[in-house]
Amino acid sequence: MKKQQNNIDHKKVYRKLMSHVWPYRWAFFLALLGNILYGIVDASFIKLFEPLLDKGFVDRDQSFIKWIPYVVVAIFLLRGLATFLSTFFMGWVGRQVVMNFRQKMFKHMINLPASFFDRTTSGETLSKITYNVEQVANACTDAITVLVRESCTALALFGVMLSISWRLTCLFIVLVPLMAGVMHFVSRRMRMVSGRVQDSMGSVTHVAGEAIEGQKVIKAFGGQDYEFNRFVEATQNNRRQEMKLIATSALSIPMIQVIGAFALALTVYLATLNPDNAMGTAMSTGAFAAMISAMIALLKPIKQLTKVNGNIQKGIAGAASIFKFLDEMAERDQGRLEMQSSTGHVAFNHVSFSYENPDISGIAEKTLDNISFEVKAGETIALVGRSGGGKSTIANLLPRFYECEGEILIDGVNVRNIPLKDLRKQIAIVTQHVTLFNDTIGNNIAYGQSATEEDIKHAAEQAHALEFIELLPEGFNTVVGENGVRLSGGQRQRLAIARAILKRAPILILDEATSSLDTESERHIQSALEQLMRQCTTLVIAHRLSTIQKADKIIVIDKGQIIEMGTHKELMQSNGVYNTLRNMQFQEHSEIMTDSLL
Ligand code: ADP
Repeated sequence: MKKQQNNIDHKKVYRKLMSHVWPYRWAFFLALLGNILYGIVDASFIKLFEPLLDKGFVDRDQSFIKWIPYVVVAIFLLRGLATFLSTFFMGWVGRQVVMNFRQKMFKHMINLPASFFDRTTSGETLSKITYNVEQVANACTDAITVLVRESCTALALFGVMLSISWRLTCLFIVLVPLMAGVMHFVSRRMRMVSGRVQDSMGSVTHVAGEAIEGQKVIKAFGGQDYEFNRFVEATQNNRRQEMKLIATSALSIPMIQVIGAFALALTVYLATLNPDNAMGTAMSTGAFAAMISAMIALLKPIKQLTKVNGNIQKGIAGAASIFKFLDEMAERDQGRLEMQSSTGHVAFNHVSFSYENPDISGIAEKTLDNISFEVKAGETIALVGRSGGGKSTIANLLPRFYECEGEILIDGVNVRNIPLKDLRKQIAIVTQHVTLFNDTIGNNIAYGQSATEEDIKHAAEQAHALEFIELLPEGFNTVVGENGVRLSGGQRQRLAIARAILKRAPILILDEATSSLDTESERHIQSALEQLMRQCTTLVIAHRLSTIQKADKIIVIDKGQIIEMGTHKELMQSNGVYNTLRNMQFQEHSEIMTDSLL
């Protein structure tokens, strides 16, 4: 049953793969033609042995002999043409397939929901886009080249053998099922192990990627040995899986060849018992030599076909993982109510949510439980509370990074009914973790927008970024390095704020947006932000409660629930959690101040 399932999947994968080659069918068929021609030409050369020996050496037929050099040159010219056709056009198809798969996977990846990235490591995905795609290209091109060329050669050689002696050929053919049996077993094993090789390659990329990204933490915490051991484990696993492939291939090639050699030995034995009448067929010297040459020549295609089988199985396993990736559900974007510009009125009605991480009992714990609140256009609300309470999760639900239960409304329209592009146009986000691209400062600020230089400069000025940008040798044209490594935390944060200012969205989300700024910069930016906040609806998540005192509404979140809601004054009077948190922070602050004075 399981075997059958495997077969069905394998055929489906192959069919799907071929559908990606179909647009290039003309080049593909030209290449196939080249391969077929190659096989025929190769076999014809062997067939030529028969008249060559009989007429050239035994009969010494001069009229025949003088043609031999021309025929040899013509055969090799044809062979050259066949090789060119197959190599060039197969290569062309292969590279097209690689490029298309990569582009398709990338496009799909950037439209996958946030939940996909929560459960998959970047290394695994990267490995699919680089390594697995290459394996598939090999299967589509190199492997098919060998498959078609060598099969044609083998068939043509069989034709040659049949034309000389069908009885001896039949003897040879008897062994074909035995070879097929070995090949079948080998294919299954290769496919299975190839999948594991690809997974192990994903781990290698993953561990290496993490070590590159976290290099400072590794140095600071002396994690070099730990990371190296992790990498050793990943590469050892990769090597082990690769060795299984190599062992299977190393065993299968000689096995098939030995079977072929037995057939050859038996034929020679029978033919030489009575050379004049081998198995009832009177054979000339030339015919006998051609027969034996064809049999020996057959060993090469058999060897190649056994070897290429490994590549085809690797390709199928690679293609299966690529198709699985492409089948991942993209973000649902079924909203049809276009929204050009909203007023910024936001409402959460009975919103509940859990990340896709059911606990051991299989029931996912709710990260947000029945959250309801309203923010009028232009108002500022602050979400406060203990870390892990669910504040960032609320901010993540508004742009629909995740799907939730209940409804979230913007201007009375459920966000599910707004096209994602329109919805996200309404929202500017500044988070604690700033993402910058390895591009110029100007392009990073204008990311995703079409803006004039003036606009960019103005936004940078408002975010108090202009003062440091102008000191840089190339100003706005300075390239910031991967994720802005050449900038300080505060500078990065100011660029993120400038980016949000430039977007001029009606809703602004500030998730610990000023946390990397020193008090001095924060004071400057706070005034810029306050100006911006006056123009839009703002959701602020702040750890430092002193910064959100002026908010129109403060919501205290704990364990996914709203436990208090009101203005600063109301909450201070009610003597609840907010009051306690506020007093705790005030006390800490005073202690720090006193310590620094002493
Ligand atoms: P806060 O912003 O209040 O600190 P979060 O909204 O970040 O809290 O997190 C709320 C809870 O959800 C925490 O228990 C956290 O572990 C969990 N959580 C946050 N992000 C994810 C995620 N991507 N996948 C799974 N769980 C998450």
